[in-house]
Amino acid sequence: MAESGYGFDTLKVRGGYNPKDHNYAVSVPIYQTASFELGDTERVERLLRFDEEGYLYTRMGNPTVTVLEKRVAALDGGTAAIAVASGMAAITYTLFSVAEGGGRILTTPHLYGGTVDSFKRIYPRFGVGIDQVSDPDDPEAFRRGITPETRAIFIESISNPNATLPDIRRIAEIAHENGIPLIVDNTFATPYLLNPLKHGADIVVYSATKALGGHGNVIGGVIVEGGTFPWDNGKFPQFTEPHFLLRDESGKERSFLELAPTSPFTLRVRLTYLIYFGAVLSPFDAYLLLQGIETLSERVKKQVANAEKIVRYLETHEAVAWVSHPAAEGSPYRSLAEKYLPKGAGSTFTFGFNGTEQQSDIFINSVRLFSYQANVGDSRSLIINPPKTTHGELTPEELEFAGIPPETIRLSLGLEEPDDLIADLAQAFALSRSEVA
Ligand SMILES: *Cc1c(COP(=O)(O)O)cnc(C)c1O
Repeated sequence: MAESGYGFDTLKVRGGYNPKDHNYAVSVPIYQTASFELGDTERVERLLRFDEEGYLYTRMGNPTVTVLEKRVAALDGGTAAIAVASGMAAITYTLFSVAEGGGRILTTPHLYGGTVDSFKRIYPRFGVGIDQVSDPDDPEAFRRGITPETRAIFIESISNPNATLPDIRRIAEIAHENGIPLIVDNTFATPYLLNPLKHGADIVVYSATKALGGHGNVIGGVIVEGGTFPWDNGKFPQFTEPHFLLRDESGKERSFLELAPTSPFTLRVRLTYLIYFGAVLSPFDAYLLLQGIETLSERVKKQVANAEKIVRYLETHEAVAWVSHPAAEGSPYRSLAEKYLPKGAGSTFTFGFNGTEQQSDIFINSVRLFSYQANVGDSRSLIINPPKTTHGELTPEELEFAGIPPETIRLSLGLEEPDDLIADLAQAFALSRSEVA
């Protein structure tokens, strides 16, 4: 299918898939196979030289997974994508790809808890350094934070858990002035609300586990590349050096940039991290994600509407000290939301519980519709207390730095009736206030 020219909602149900290539199957088939017949010895040589497109072994690529990769790339306006087994694998493979061998990543305190933990405790053991700007709301802070070893800036387009927003375009400009790419975790926004590549980002990563899949039934991750970053600027020899897997007919080794000028990044992730570190997405999980993406716009639209209604409700409640969502009254992110997220700033956000810790626990234990669990973007509404769970490994100082005080409660809005959700919160607030004298 020619992808160009089609709108988002057409691509989300048809992108990356031509039924003619798959026995005219209407629904994308699940290629549940570990390996593929090679045909003959000449064909395998063509495949290994990249002279012919085809499949060898599912750790390197699989037709069901390919449809998912092409579809997400189309939805984000990227040149290519690669799917992996989780959002964490997508982040790690991406950041190691740019900073391997002693590089540093410049980031912010406004990040998913697993990302924070791995940055602090795991990356340094692999020789990848992490620097954090102290004021992520000031784009110039990123310019000041860049060192000669910095190999990328990494931000979340809508941050977990507080739904804060960075000025993507300005941060991208600062990155490019310094010869490094901007990498954006776009998990909360999804390609429906925001396409970071169109605002200057170079690489986009997803936890597809969340709103992209949208049904709380699969763990997955996707990396999308924009295809325009100049990897040959001298800072990234891994893309310009000859590589042992990229031999041509004469046996000469080529570079990733030579072989794939518009998709060197995802090809390198595939031939370095995916095939040797092995966090491969299963064909069945790719199928579930494709199924989820078919209704991405419809789901996210309703979830954003539900979130905005709940924000309005919480703002009026005496048991709520503050609400952190760009649509909240007096949010400092209003103008950035208008600029980057005209369809809404997502459906996951936090509020401060106004009461004792005991009352907060009663509130969480009393909700009946909101599921108490560490996930977001599900079709069901979810609740959690980040300081004790998703961000539980942060020290009190780090929690303060990240803007997550002890009273923080995170909500992820699902697809239920908003009135039922409000009634549920109301009865839980009432119980939390009546049971403690
Ligand atoms: C959940 C999440 C991740 C990690 O994704 P997994 O699929 O759980 O590995 C990364 N970034 C953000 C913003 C997340 O919410």
